[in-house]
Amino acid sequence: MRIALLGPPGSGKGTQASKMCEAYNLVHMSSGDILRMEKMSGSAKGQRIKNFIDNGLLVPDDLMLDIMRDKIVGLGQQGFVLDGFPRTLPQAQALNKMLFELDRPLNLVLNFVVDPDILQRRFEGRRICPNCLAVYHIDANPPHVPGICDNCGEKLITRDDDQPSVVRKRISTYQETMAPLIAYFAQLGNFKTINTTGNIDDVTKLVRDKILRHFEDD
Ligand code: AMP
Repeated sequence: MRIALLGPPGSGKGTQASKMCEAYNLVHMSSGDILRMEKMSGSAKGQRIKNFIDNGLLVPDDLMLDIMRDKIVGLGQQGFVLDGFPRTLPQAQALNKMLFELDRPLNLVLNFVVDPDILQRRFEGRRICPNCLAVYHIDANPPHVPGICDNCGEKLITRDDDQPSVVRKRISTYQETMAPLIAYFAQLGNFKTINTTGNIDDVTKLVRDKILRHFEDD
């Protein structure tokens, strides 16, 4: 399976991608995590992307493609879930071209849609582990010990770009850039929309149903 998830920040892409990876033995390719790792590494590319990420702006396409190309080629035949990439039409076109040349085209694009009021509330409660990058929510998916990562015991933090003003910017950036992307994937086929406003377990069931039905029909 080679799946791409589209959806605004906070629509549950990361959470559902992790569950899909466990269920179907796929690799979770989160562009946000990949960029945050690069930023924390202090590399030259990391320095270049820092200002974009911290201000909720998209990293330029050429740099983004450069980073993601290496990661995707490195996967070989392993199935994957792309989460957060592609985010612009040029990224989508370049990705499709690259996967076609590798003879590993995407076989499903899932488009997550969610009520905008719910989005803001999801951000307010989101916490991440700065060490292993696990994601929690203080109400919907709390750690066993408040403020502490279940996996590695590190103190949880709020992401710099989950501050309300940056969140508003990220959501408006998403809406401006995603409309042509969604239209592009919709006309290519293998494209399904899922309403992810419900709770995590209900959404997981919806996602599984869509995936099973899609690959059974194939
Ligand atoms: P996310 O964790 O997916 O919300 O991404 C966090 C930040 O990383 C975004 O606000 C952007 O600055 C950057 N980013 C992630 N994915 C992309 C992408 N595909 N293209 C450009 N910038 C990206």
